[in-house]
Amino acid sequence: MKIIVCLKQVPDTNEVKINQETGTLIRDGVPSIMNPDDKNALEAALQLKDNEQAHIVALSMGPPQAKEVLQEALSMGVDEAILISDRKFGGSDTWATATILSAAIKKIADYDIIFCGRQAIDGDTAQVGPEIAEFLNIPQITYVKEIHKTPKNTLEVSRFTEYGDYTYEVKTPVLLTAIKELNTPRYPNVKGILEHFGKTDSVQIFTFDDLPVDATQIGLKGSPTNVFRSFVPVKNKHSEILHGETVKDSTNLLVNKLAEANLI
Ligand SMILES: Cc1cc2nc3c(=O)[nH]c(=O)nc-3n(C[C@H](O)[C@H](O)[C@H](O)COP(=O)(O)OP(=O)(O)OC[C@H]3O[C@@H](n4cnc5c(N)ncnc54)[C@H](O)[C@@H]3O)c2cc1C
Repeated sequence: MKIIVCLKQVPDTNEVKINQETGTLIRDGVPSIMNPDDKNALEAALQLKDNEQAHIVALSMGPPQAKEVLQEALSMGVDEAILISDRKFGGSDTWATATILSAAIKKIADYDIIFCGRQAIDGDTAQVGPEIAEFLNIPQITYVKEIHKTPKNTLEVSRFTEYGDYTYEVKTPVLLTAIKELNTPRYPNVKGILEHFGKTDSVQIFTFDDLPVDATQIGLKGSPTNVFRSFVPVKNKHSEILHGETVKDSTNLLVNKLAEANLI
């Protein structure tokens, strides 16, 4: 079985600051991490490999420093790591990002499962995974919280929704997007860290010239959407505690408040 896991390097959101003048993220001096949902995606791939023969390819697109998340993935047990990196890819929106990742996935070929995280904590769109599936014309299941291999060589996959959980049986190739409820990601092991961290040759690089992508469909110019403005929302929520003598009094106070606000 061949599994591809898409990993994005993101700024640690506890530290993220926005330049109020330009509306862009201040990335200088901000620590970067592997996107949290992608860690669950990676763990799911590693657990499948724990139980049967599998080859896992970790794939990331980003500047050269994104190599760090791939080295982390290698130290956790993936077999191959590829960084897609080229100035021509800079400024890509989700559509362009998915176009480039899909081209790389086609080049890797013969995959059974593609894992993505549900969403990246910086862009937060949750669009890239579904877009990749559309570009590759394969089925997708998002918000995945449980995966089992069946004796028929299909996958039984449960997805979480606000209306309840749904379980599907799906043939491969398939794209799955992981949520944190799927598993608890393992730590890199010491042997893996020694083998892969700081080594420049453990990550393969794909540049623009390696991929059959149309230059007009990628980067800032090829992106159909542009960020108009970024800002930190002002917190202006006020809370009020209603004190009634009895439960009935409290309920009446609440009903009156809701009626005043035209909510009921
Ligand atoms: C402040 C800000 C504003 C943005 N505004 C827009 C906008 O208006 N329109 C728009 O289209 N995009 C926007 N983006 C998205 C930006 O272009 C993204 O970095 C990129 O396109 C991926 O989108 P995402 O981060 O939302 O990923 P998501 O769709 O949330 O990511 C889902 C999953 O896809 C995979 N994935 C995503 N990106 C990569 C990658 N580079 N390498 C490997 N795997 C990956 C990961 O598995 C990830 O968990 C914005 C980003 C930022 C930081």
